[in-house]
Amino acid sequence: MRQNTIRKSVSIEGVGLHSGKVARVTISPAPADAGVVFKAHATGERIPARAESVVNSHYATTLGVNGTRIQTVEHVMAAAAGLGIDNIEIDVDGPEIPALDGSAKPFVALLAAAGRVQQSARRRLLSLPCPIRVGGAGRWMQIVPSDTFRISYTLDNDHPAIGTQVLSWSPSERSFVEEFAPARTYGFLRDLGLMRKNGLARGGSLDNAIVLGNRGALNGLRYDDEFVRHKILDLLGDLALLGRPIGAHVIARNGGHALNLELVLAVQRAVGLERRAAATVPAAAADEASRDAARREGFVPAPGLAAI
Ligand SMILES: [Zn+2]
Repeated sequence: MRQNTIRKSVSIEGVGLHSGKVARVTISPAPADAGVVFKAHATGERIPARAESVVNSHYATTLGVNGTRIQTVEHVMAAAAGLGIDNIEIDVDGPEIPALDGSAKPFVALLAAAGRVQQSARRRLLSLPCPIRVGGAGRWMQIVPSDTFRISYTLDNDHPAIGTQVLSWSPSERSFVEEFAPARTYGFLRDLGLMRKNGLARGGSLDNAIVLGNRGALNGLRYDDEFVRHKILDLLGDLALLGRPIGAHVIARNGGHALNLELVLAVQRAVGLERRAAATVPAAAADEASRDAARREGFVPAPGLAAI
């Protein structure tokens, strides 16, 4: 299997789910082995889409370096991963990737419009040396070596519209486009006030999220089990922070972005990617400082809030 990039630059604009701010995203071709690299339009700062760049993983995955941050990268990351696009540069003019319809579908359409180009370099699959488990009793993830990539997900929630949803999926491009990319993010109406107080969901609306009231969804569902499908989509996007595809089966129960990141970091340690990562991220110290700043800044999750 060879690496892929896109044929031409494409742009899209919209409001960020959490910041409520408008951003314009331009995705351009990138050379082999570049991976996915975000570029902050204002500062020109380049932020590799790697676990080392994550500065916050509550409710969304935020990347940052030297104080520059780009929020909510997971759906565009999932779109690239699901379409098998390895190398792109994503210029972001604004603080957050636009929510669009709350799913990865608009990014899939955008990348499809850009066309795909096969590159001469081979895609290098990561192989997992041993099973790994992260998390605790009710929320955990396990990854085991496998010839084919697979995600098996169980989502439990006492909300009547969710209940227990279980799905096991071995990705193909077609099933990604038809069955997972359109699954939207979701949130609970009862949490909205508190989330907005914490600087979250400020751009959230019925146009870009499934909103759950006491009895059910206020807007119609695209799939009966859209919630677990979206969880799988988010996991696919966060796993792409490994920078390479992995031959493994991920078995997850009630995860979220923080647990996804924990898994990615544990996999990196197991496959010995850490040293390489340190060598390619010269600003590691500054990054650590911005990570501390993010911790101080908050995004403290209130107990019982559902992760989006
Ligand atoms: Zn999501």
